[in-house]
Amino acid sequence: MNKFISFCKKLGSKILNLIFPLNTKCIFCNNEIVDFEKQPYCDECAKYAFNKGCKCKICDTRVKEDNVICDNCQSHKRNFKRCYCPLNYEKAVRTSILSFKDSNAKYLAKSYAKIMAEYLKDKNLNFDLITFVPSHIKTIKRRGYNPAQLLAEELSILLGKSCIESLIKIGKTKQQKNLTYAERAKNLEQSMMITNAKQIKNKTLLLVDDVVTTCATIDQCSKLLNQYAKAVYATAIARNHLKNNTQDN
Ligand SMILES: [Zn+2]
Ligand SMILES: [Zn+2]
Repeated sequence: MNKFISFCKKLGSKILNLIFPLNTKCIFCNNEIVDFEKQPYCDECAKYAFNKGCKCKICDTRVKEDNVICDNCQSHKRNFKRCYCPLNYEKAVRTSILSFKDSNAKYLAKSYAKIMAEYLKDKNLNFDLITFVPSHIKTIKRRGYNPAQLLAEELSILLGKSCIESLIKIGKTKQQKNLTYAERAKNLEQSMMITNAKQIKNKTLLLVDDVVTTCATIDQCSKLLNQYAKAVYATAIARNHLKNNTQDN
């Protein structure tokens, strides 16, 4: 009887799938997968996608030994307490995130947030509110959304914490390429301002971004937020590990 019920359930979900097709492809490489609800990525991607192994105790980048602080975090005192990134910004993960950011693949936010929430639950983090890295209004108009905000809103549902806007981008950030870390920081600092000082006062925040590379953006956001907040933790879907760990530019 049990077998018959489970057969009917499976048949029912197959028929439902035919009528309302669910996403059945790997969120990274687009290959067909067996059970999207259980695991939205394929086994091949699972081999390299996750940020495992030895990581910096502050910024989650790859380091050679366990339980150390990377060169960049040693040379620049961070304004956030800790940054958590579950994925490596590499191969198909990178392509997938690029399409999330620039090709209107908004639907990916749900799966990404699920992966982030699982990673964060493991860390037993204590925080009061979720907030996100702002996008310039012109960029939001072009994209139709702010990827970091989408992730923050999904995380808010999954982690049961409120999500608020706390920063806005008031100026376009100048080309960062040829600037030193200090010049980048100044550049970013002048391009953002706090919008919600009252609500974040004395609160511990979880600041959400999409990808973390040099930490310059989350660090500047944290610096501003720290004027009112008690502390800031940061999180992003993926960590872009710098090849040369001494080159934080
Ligand atoms: Zn895959
Ligand atoms: Zn670090």
